[in-house]
Amino acid sequence: MKYRLETQCLHEGWSPSNGMSRQLPIYQSTTFKYDSSDEMGRLFDLEAEGYFYTRLQNPTSDAVAARICALEGGEAAMLTSSGQAANFFAIFNICEAGDHFIASSAIYGGTYNLFGVTLKKMGIECTFVDQTLSEEALAGYFRPNTKALFGETITNPTVSVLDIEKFSRLAHAHGVPLIIDNTFATPVNCRPFEWGADIVTHSTTKYMDGHAVGVGGCIVDSGNFDWMRHPDRFPGLTTPDESYHGIVYAERFGRRAYITKATSQLMRDFGATQSPQNAFYLGLGLETLALRMQRHCANALQVANYLSAHSKVAWVHYPELEGDEFHALAQKYLPTGSCGVLAFGVRGGRTAAVRFMDRLQLAAIMTHVADSKTCLLHPASHTHRQLSDEQLAAAGVAPDLIRLSVGIEDVNDIIADLAQALESI
Ligand SMILES: *Cc1c(COP(=O)(O)O)cnc(C)c1O
Repeated sequence: MKYRLETQCLHEGWSPSNGMSRQLPIYQSTTFKYDSSDEMGRLFDLEAEGYFYTRLQNPTSDAVAARICALEGGEAAMLTSSGQAANFFAIFNICEAGDHFIASSAIYGGTYNLFGVTLKKMGIECTFVDQTLSEEALAGYFRPNTKALFGETITNPTVSVLDIEKFSRLAHAHGVPLIIDNTFATPVNCRPFEWGADIVTHSTTKYMDGHAVGVGGCIVDSGNFDWMRHPDRFPGLTTPDESYHGIVYAERFGRRAYITKATSQLMRDFGATQSPQNAFYLGLGLETLALRMQRHCANALQVANYLSAHSKVAWVHYPELEGDEFHALAQKYLPTGSCGVLAFGVRGGRTAAVRFMDRLQLAAIMTHVADSKTCLLHPASHTHRQLSDEQLAAAGVAPDLIRLSVGIEDVNDIIADLAQALESI
């Protein structure tokens, strides 16, 4: 029976049979035992499915990956040690030295650095584009060696909403997959596969975990992208893998080829695996994801309305606010709500922002976001503090931008805290 999303959050990935544990067990084991050498050999040849070493796969992690896969409506999924590892694998699974891909310039700073600096050292070039450009203008950035298009459903920290269908048309017109980082929206509010995305990534560290206990990531494949239609462009999937006795992933594994390759090659070689203990915490967080997202969105909208009407607030960005630049896109792609994160500026620039933040009592200053407890960050004083105002502007981050991550506390307490701190400036 196919359940609805709220039910899937609780039940997908683990269905105990008679007398088994109700909660997902933690398989706290590095390794798995076999009775015959032949059985073990078949696992190594990818001829049989099973577990042999937790660096590659673990039953607890796989159960949680299956839950996220079901929530996204995907075909196959894997957990990774962090969101950074998920985005690295998502690209590196189909790009190698000499290849090129395109990403929105509004993406999370950590991913921007990974794509623009570290992947470049590996010979993979990324062009960053303004995601609001027209389809025609964006088409001009594709090259013969372009292998993927990348964006975030809701960008961190500027909370811009991506036109996913525009990106998917562009990617498919150029024979490449669209990869979407769906961290802020979560599958509760947006399922990018329904809009033509091929692969979805997550920093599960954020809403999915929800309680700030474990850093983690996930990659989900829709199974829809046909690698064999472009055999020359994706040789890693369409030609024999010598490190696995000449297996051709796309032929042998069909719709599961991408995740099978990422697990058996990249996880084997890089080992950015999620521990079973952290996977268990993630699974626990997922149980209440739908409930929490509803509360985050309701609270954030109230806070956004409060701030917009405040005389000491210069501007507020929240896609669900009437009049927000991304309101129409939010209505299309995020009809049930966007997320708990909003961006705003106080009058008086950097100094006033710092004064305001230091006065807060409930909301904590943290390098964290999308969590049950309200927290905030001032990029100009924290994550981007080495940049001048001019450099900040180039990165699309206003010097007075405060990223507020609205939690699931009583919204009256959150607003009262903001009110007393605004009074001080
Ligand atoms: C936090 C974040 C990441 C990086 O994830 P980590 O789990 O911190 O490695 C990637 N993408 C987005 C949108 C994020 O917010």
